[in-house]
Amino acid sequence: MKKILITRPMPDAVVVALAKAHKVAVRDDLQPMSRDELIAALARFDAILPTIGDAFLAEIFAAAGEIRAGLLANFGVGYNHIDVTSARAHGVEVTNTPGVLTDATADLALTLLLATARRAGEGERMLRAGLWQGWHPTQLLGQHVTGKRLGIVGMGRIGEGIARRCHFGFGMEVAYLNRSEKVLDFPARRVDTLTALAADVDFLVVAVPGGAETRHLIGAEVFSAMKSSGILVNIARGDVVDEAALIAALEAGEIAGAGLDVYENEPQVPEALRGMENVTLLPHLGSATLETRTAMGLLAADNILAFLAGEPPISPV
Ligand code: NAP
Repeated sequence: MKKILITRPMPDAVVVALAKAHKVAVRDDLQPMSRDELIAALARFDAILPTIGDAFLAEIFAAAGEIRAGLLANFGVGYNHIDVTSARAHGVEVTNTPGVLTDATADLALTLLLATARRAGEGERMLRAGLWQGWHPTQLLGQHVTGKRLGIVGMGRIGEGIARRCHFGFGMEVAYLNRSEKVLDFPARRVDTLTALAADVDFLVVAVPGGAETRHLIGAEVFSAMKSSGILVNIARGDVVDEAALIAALEAGEIAGAGLDVYENEPQVPEALRGMENVTLLPHLGSATLETRTAMGLLAADNILAFLAGEPPISPV
């Protein structure tokens, strides 16, 4: 019987799947693990099921001494909180949960796009504050969504899911930036540069992985290139967008609004953003449906079961 650590409370089915054959400890804390907890976990468990915020950085592996864990089965497709190179150098494999959260996250991108363009948050806040005095023809006029131009930064699984919804559901023209060529079964134009894409579209949606390569990819230059009616949506990782430059662009009216699910220093969200009516702010809800979170946990669990049985992991990074 091997020892497994799940670093946050999970849907029951996930714990049940692992506890059939192994000894499972579930950390009863909603916050990410501390440095000491990370180091201790590497020494005490055969496999760990970590998630966002559990910062398995190079320094943790270096400080860990004798490492018992052979696998970090990350709960989530994004794994920028894990230094994969250091993990491998210390004999620790890493897996993630691609695919099972694509639809939920694409749905949430549309939630942000629609809510921001149609001023849904502003309307809700007005109504709840008891300030609604009835319908009139010029109240809270937003931007039309159907038929507009969409730009996707990072045409991967989720980027494609968003583009598909926008093309088939909203009759939008789709353009995108991606380093490699994509084969798509609907019309979409690949653009060479980020600024050309930004200048061309009404809604710019960010769906690249986080990490050093994409840090502040969306910055001042992109905001100046965007139309003043443009809306930015970010469902990727907070540090892909230069948050200070975004605030400056919104304050200067360089862009019309933003829909954000992720932030540079979660859970801190700058006061400046919280004070703006033209931004929609969600607390990192991309994959937050019971079905999706269960599927993510079961895929992470399957990776652990395969690894502990000496088989190749299902979704290595
Ligand atoms: P994916 O299939 O790997 O897609 C990422 C896409 O980005 C790929 O097409 C990749 O293609 C492209 N890309 C990477 N670097 C790029 C760059 N510098 N410039 C342009 N394109 C670039 O991953 P996914 O499953 O769609 O997930 C994407 C990210 O969404 C995850 O890594 C995660 O951080 C985030 N996410 C957030 C939530 C949430 O709760 N908000 C939920 C799920 C996922 P090339 O490498 O060919 O360029």
